[in-house]
Amino acid sequence: MRFLEMIERRACEFPEAVAQRTSTGSQLTYGELWHASGALAQELVRRNASRTDGGHAPVLVYGHKSPLMLVGMLACMRSGHPYVPVDAHSVPDERAASIARQLGEPIVLAAESLPAAVAVSPEGVLSAADIRAVAERPADAPNPAWQIAGEDLCYILFTSGSTGAPKGVEVTANCFDNFCGWDVELAGPVATLGAVWIDQAPFSFDLSVFELAGALATSGTLFSLEHDTQQDMEALLASLAESGAAVWVSTPSFADLCLVNAGFSQEMMPNLRLFLFCGETLANSTAAHLLERFPRARVLNTYGPTESTVAVTAVEITPQLAAAPEPLPVGSPRPGTRLRIVDAAGSDAEAGRPGEVVIEGDTVAHGYYGRDDLTRAAFGTASSAVPGAVSPARSYRTGDEGWLDESGTLHYHGRLDLQVKLNGFRIELGEIEEQLRRLPGVDAAAVTTRERDGKVSHLVAHVVYSGPRAEGESDFRLGLALKEQLKPVLPHYMVPKKIAFLNALPRTGNGKVDRRALKAL
Ligand code: AMP
Repeated sequence: MRFLEMIERRACEFPEAVAQRTSTGSQLTYGELWHASGALAQELVRRNASRTDGGHAPVLVYGHKSPLMLVGMLACMRSGHPYVPVDAHSVPDERAASIARQLGEPIVLAAESLPAAVAVSPEGVLSAADIRAVAERPADAPNPAWQIAGEDLCYILFTSGSTGAPKGVEVTANCFDNFCGWDVELAGPVATLGAVWIDQAPFSFDLSVFELAGALATSGTLFSLEHDTQQDMEALLASLAESGAAVWVSTPSFADLCLVNAGFSQEMMPNLRLFLFCGETLANSTAAHLLERFPRARVLNTYGPTESTVAVTAVEITPQLAAAPEPLPVGSPRPGTRLRIVDAAGSDAEAGRPGEVVIEGDTVAHGYYGRDDLTRAAFGTASSAVPGAVSPARSYRTGDEGWLDESGTLHYHGRLDLQVKLNGFRIELGEIEEQLRRLPGVDAAAVTTRERDGKVSHLVAHVVYSGPRAEGESDFRLGLALKEQLKPVLPHYMVPKKIAFLNALPRTGNGKVDRRALKAL
């Protein structure tokens, strides 16, 4: 793998160069990363050989942002095992257990103590102390022939499944390498040797592969924001200020959270040159605020599902795009990816018409682990050769609705299953949210539906507001005032019936707005 070659080169030439720093002060050099992952790779090969199942079984890598996670993931790549990252903070114990069950009896690298619910035999578990002990052993370099390559699985990432149990997306070494090359190109000259990349998303969310691949393939440094730091605004801002980061990778929601603080600006992060977003809609207002506050930084919006290795399209958001009334585009496809827009019957939609987005290309995953039924329903082979693809091109039906403009840029319309109807009117909740965000004093907003008799009965807006209030003005009165301001810009049926105020929007472990939690309020 080219990715591993780059790390090895850095480790040999500059072993003291820093591969990862965490917000609570841990540090890992390239020399340490290369040696420790090599020693651990040997141990994995030894343990695997002694197991009856043999083969290159997946290894569950459990923990959070500790350097041992990086060591564990790299050790898997170097020993031919796909890794399965499970974040200790955002993945509940029962869910971790369900993942372990699906994997059979996996070897576990536990950078943090493993929940009792994860019932695997103790012989298969290497604790943090075990990993450290292995890493400190003098060890020969593992055999390069063991490394994952080609269509071997690189990682299996479990995402929420509509059937109730999480499903594991199988990303191959080809997918990873192909994505990695594009990632580096996207970052361009910003990713000069040693650039610092913000690492916010848990490793169990594929957004984190953006910075993992990007930073380590360009001899840069990951600056990992730990859970506790992210929970404490003061600590978070202090960490960001001292990170020296040049590249920012996060969900837009996380940037919104930071933007609430007026100090979050170029003065605070003077080296910052690039914001990379993915995973959810980037609001015009978020992009506009960032471009205003960080005049030396570019903002890139990227789009893609885990099933096609992080992201497959990108577009630079200019101040003009951010200021335009239309929602932001999500970009044009990377070389090696082709997008098709299909109708409900699966036939190509008319040019410029919306439909389901189908991704074809050399970063489309192999399928869902152990779920041929789900794999068959969503994955297939590309309809014809995909220009620029350098390895097998598969296809994936995203369930997203979008359309392609004349320049081939994708415009995202939301999930096919998240469009709502109220009294027969078709409504995009994101549009209401965007209008709310444009109101003075509104820092963040999300709109959910309430149902009666199986139909949407009304809309509720959840708003984070920091603007002025008249003396003694109740939430109810403030809500009425915001609704009055919405009426000129939205049809009446899109003005939410109720506006509820919150200190912050709840977020899922992946950093997205947690709509289920909002609905439960
Ligand atoms: P995940 O697999 O968690 O990365 O989620 C993938 C889904 O997130 C996609 O299928 C889209 O529905 C949504 N998504 C990803 N990127 C964007 C984006 N830039 N704008 C809007 N939605 C996005």
